[in-house]
Amino acid sequence: MERPTLISKAAATLPVAPNWTRYEQERQSFTWEAARQALQGLPGGGLNMGFEAVDRHAATPRADKTALRFVSRNAPALDVSYAELARQTNRFANVLQGLGVGRGDRLFVLSGRMPELYVAVLGALKNGTVVTPLFSAFGPEPIAARINLGEGQVLVTTDVLYQRKIKAMRAQMPTLRHVLLVAEEGASIYEPDTLDLATLMRGASDKFTSVATQPEDPALLHFTSGTTGTPKGALHVHGAVVAHHATGRYALDLQEHDRYWCTADPGWVTGMSYGILAPLLQGVTSLVDREEFDAERWYSLLEAERITVWYTAPTAIRMLMKAGTELARQHHFPDLRFVASVGEPLNPQAVWWGLETLGLPIHDNWWQTETGGIMIANTAAFDIKPGSMGRPLPGVEAFIVEHLEAVGEAPRVRVIDQPDVEGELALKAGWPSMFRGYLHNEARYRQCFAGELYLTGDLARRDADGYYWFVGRSDDVIKSAGHLIGPFEVESVLMEHPAVAEAGVIGKPDPIVGEVVKAFVSLKDGYVPEAALRQDILAHARKRLGAAVAPKEIAFLPVLPRTRSGKIMRRLLKARELGLPEGDTSTLEAGA
Ligand code: ATP
Ligand code: MG
Repeated sequence: MERPTLISKAAATLPVAPNWTRYEQERQSFTWEAARQALQGLPGGGLNMGFEAVDRHAATPRADKTALRFVSRNAPALDVSYAELARQTNRFANVLQGLGVGRGDRLFVLSGRMPELYVAVLGALKNGTVVTPLFSAFGPEPIAARINLGEGQVLVTTDVLYQRKIKAMRAQMPTLRHVLLVAEEGASIYEPDTLDLATLMRGASDKFTSVATQPEDPALLHFTSGTTGTPKGALHVHGAVVAHHATGRYALDLQEHDRYWCTADPGWVTGMSYGILAPLLQGVTSLVDREEFDAERWYSLLEAERITVWYTAPTAIRMLMKAGTELARQHHFPDLRFVASVGEPLNPQAVWWGLETLGLPIHDNWWQTETGGIMIANTAAFDIKPGSMGRPLPGVEAFIVEHLEAVGEAPRVRVIDQPDVEGELALKAGWPSMFRGYLHNEARYRQCFAGELYLTGDLARRDADGYYWFVGRSDDVIKSAGHLIGPFEVESVLMEHPAVAEAGVIGKPDPIVGEVVKAFVSLKDGYVPEAALRQDILAHARKRLGAAVAPKEIAFLPVLPRTRSGKIMRRLLKARELGLPEGDTSTLEAGA
């Protein structure tokens, strides 16, 4: 079925007036200096992420409002107010002080979405200690590798995870001085060379004055998802908090009375910037579900928790789509007013699915670990072009560039002014949440800049209305008979077929045309992988894309390999197809 190419919004018909309604005016009047004034700051020009997210509210009428609401299957919900969060994070900062851990030292957290993780992250930030979250499903080697690369001195984890993943490797992590354990159930199991966090917290004062960090002081070290290769450690500073605050307002349209749910795990940058920081900075109530994905559970939570703003990812949306519409129809979401997605391209099909199933279109937005915050977005007040990642936010200048021959080591590019031309997406450097380096990899960092432009490694085009369209990662683009083919376009068309749940497309070397398009497809429940279906999907793709761009081959897989943050790993599909080494698979989801 052909669908219109625009979902138009009329601000007056929206249930809540959006924060940002005049696109150009707001972009013109916006400055990062002014955005910073919306935060409190510390005496002497200091700025501290933890203070702004938590303490700033504790002295206001928001003090008793629920900041974080933790839900899980087998325990009652736990509501933590802003004032309580301030006291708990004070205690944690004092625990660190007591251990001699201070400004610039490095703390790692490895756990599920438990309250102590949030307290540790925010308390450490208030203490000026640099935080790195690790995804709790990582195996022992990837954990040790990251702690060693980041020279972690403190680790907060659970007794169970410690026994399973850390204990045997402990001697191989020479920088790790303190391991603070949280008991997963009941009393903690005693482990030598560790400390019991609950005991330390009880003995610590709940009064603490945030360390006077400066905007350029390091705050967070995030590892990238490892979709295209070995994960890189991207360093962020306390000043990034200005972007977390502003983008929560512009891109997610967060407002005082929202009940917000970000489904990303804090082990990844989305779970940190938008699962922890942005909602707290906006003073809203944020839901934290401690359980793993489950379609029925998620629909029930959206409904029962009366979520108003929901931030999720294409992988989750694809799983909900796969579970079928009947399940969704058993639920109603009258409170839901804004839904956004990030992490991978969002197929138009998924935008429409949102409209039909949730009653709202899904707003795609684009950013990276390196950008620290949302840069390009479809937002509440403005029309959506399904398949487009939207337009730049205030304070963000985006360009499409073409590479010129490098002079020496530095990349050189030319800005392409005409619309509808594909090129690399570049951003004018200078927004506050921009990464300040790749850990121990200065050369790689320098390769990301051409003059004042940051080169994202993603290919895109801008249309005449200023909307950006994702084409593919520069590593994934397919060169076939003189055409450049973006995998996203092909995958989106495959997703239109009623049987297709997920699609990943690669270029397979071919002696005649350079590369041919090969697609890997997983099917929706109830479909059987057989030759007739393959033919049907191929025919659909040829009709929509033409023979030059449509896949020549389709292989069925039960699931596609993806990162634990949910991204399809095309490099792995390709390596497996060609019998090449798989490279770094530390972030690969189990069973894929
Ligand atoms: P690595 O850099 O280690 O290969 P990664 O790039 O997947 O991993 P992240 O920083 O988590 O690590 O992901 C950012 C990338 O995700 C972007 O560069 C882009 O390729 C992709 N991405 C994020 N949001 C979108 C979106 N809305 N549309 C298309 N692609 C997106
Ligand atoms: Mg990347």
